[in-house]
Amino acid sequence: MPLEIVRNDITKMTVDAIVNAANESLLGGGGVDGAIHHAAGAGLLAECKTLGGCKTGKAKITGGYNLPAKYVIHTVGPVYEDGKHGEKDLLESCYRESLALAKKRNCETVAFPLISSGVYGYPKDQALKVAIDVISTFLLENDMTVYIVIFDKAAYKISEKLFSDIAEYIDDNYVDEHTDYRRESTRMNVPMQAIMADEICECKALFTEDDLDSKLKQIDESFSQMLLRKIDEKGMTDAECYKKANIDRKLFSKIRSDVHYKPSKPTAIAFAISLELSLDETEDMLKKAGFALSHSNKFDIIIEYFISKGNYNIFEINEALFAFDQSLLGA
Ligand code: ADP
Repeated sequence: MPLEIVRNDITKMTVDAIVNAANESLLGGGGVDGAIHHAAGAGLLAECKTLGGCKTGKAKITGGYNLPAKYVIHTVGPVYEDGKHGEKDLLESCYRESLALAKKRNCETVAFPLISSGVYGYPKDQALKVAIDVISTFLLENDMTVYIVIFDKAAYKISEKLFSDIAEYIDDNYVDEHTDYRRESTRMNVPMQAIMADEICECKALFTEDDLDSKLKQIDESFSQMLLRKIDEKGMTDAECYKKANIDRKLFSKIRSDVHYKPSKPTAIAFAISLELSLDETEDMLKKAGFALSHSNKFDIIIEYFISKGNYNIFEINEALFAFDQSLLGA
């Protein structure tokens, strides 16, 4: 998945580069900076001393020393005063400059902490939004996997309003829909095998062998065929579609070349979101891959919430899924 939000300690990330929320001296500090220097060892500080500091909004690169990452990109975020002192521009610049350096060194995987959101005081929900906006814009033009690493639950906040709207939607729609064989059989006091045997007999009665043969010849359009048809109908290019779906190019090529490809549910939904399908069309597309949206599952209700609001921004959806501890959309 090109952009992923993960909960982790950034010093543990095995990626090409991790980004450090440094200060202008580049000589180490507290928070994530202290943790990175501690894990990297004295070699990192020695190299930082040769760099002559770094201006706010800019970035410099060093080796990763004892870290699992090959490089550390040091960027200096703005101290947040009141939002009226160019803080947003400077924070955007931190992400842009760091990504440009990573690209220059051919990094394929990069992990960011939420820059400025600790001691520098940038409100966490806004800091996250800046990170997502700049990174997702960069990924439209570049192939890279970028992680936003959230250290602790408290460090992660989507806007209160969105969180409470979704929580309310889940409350209104969360119903236990498990009317499966097991429940049916206990309710009706009938052994499960008996119900299943009945069903099987009914199915057998429906088809003679010839029937079955002709049915098999009319197999419906597959997931892959429907996806490609919808991309054409929407006038999108393949790249526009998989990028908007937060799916990487290799996975898309696999789906394109294998007419019977069976995607995971989050991947199938990611495409439905990218294509801006209605709820009915989304259900149709999911059915092709053997899935359905249900009200007994928080993940599904959150997806339904966004589609019903006409909000097809996959990164916002992923923020919300992350806040509710659900798996994210994409590969
Ligand atoms: P800044 O001075 O730019 O605000 P901080 O280090 O104080 O930098 O905090 C930036 C963010 O990094 C905060 O959200 C904090 O929770 C987070 N953070 C602190 N330690 C780690 C770590 N080891 N891995 C990832 N994130 C971390």
